[in-house]
Amino acid sequence: MEASPISPAHSNEKLLAKLADRGVDVHACYQCGRCSAGCPITEFFDITTMEVVRLAAYGAEEQLLSSSAIWLCAACETCASRCPNDIDIAVLMDVLRELARRKGVVPAEKRVALFHRCFLQSIKHWGRAYEVGLIAGYKVRSGDLLGDMKLGMKMFARGRLKLTPHPIAGKAEIKKMFAGQGKEYER
Ligand code: SF4
Ligand code: SF4
Repeated sequence: MEASPISPAHSNEKLLAKLADRGVDVHACYQCGRCSAGCPITEFFDITTMEVVRLAAYGAEEQLLSSSAIWLCAACETCASRCPNDIDIAVLMDVLRELARRKGVVPAEKRVALFHRCFLQSIKHWGRAYEVGLIAGYKVRSGDLLGDMKLGMKMFARGRLKLTPHPIAGKAEIKKMFAGQGKEYER
């Protein structure tokens, strides 16, 4: 039987192609659950790691892009190191975050999404994270001016926060990597 033009399989082709480009084959997953069992923050996810993989294989893009899991994933790679099929779920999460951003999906974790954006702006501009600039940008945009102030002062006192940025030599190459991303990561 011919596939419907709006079947999940059809609508999922683009997502699967993007994942294949990044070396992620979600169809290799046989739902053993080792990824979810090892994820250190799985209790905070609305859908588990193994569910994210299965939903991607099913083409449930809407459910994935509106989930909190894609924003809460810390990209620690524990799941990938435990997967018997070498599925890099941190990369899968990254692809989903970028897709959500491009499609203008309201993020389930707004503050995490804002931090993500400020972080990538910093990388684009300096070639690496300039923490003080990143924190200032995030604070102003989120309106959370005083949160974590004590921690910030401690880090500053221990020399962990540098007042001036230290850009890398290959800034131009980093900027090229952001080509085609629109104005989202402009400062
Ligand atoms: S560890 Fe790998 S194969 Fe097992 S459920 Fe997770 S993604 Fe699927
Ligand atoms: S990369 Fe993300 S999903 Fe995988 S174990 Fe770490 S936090 Fe969990």
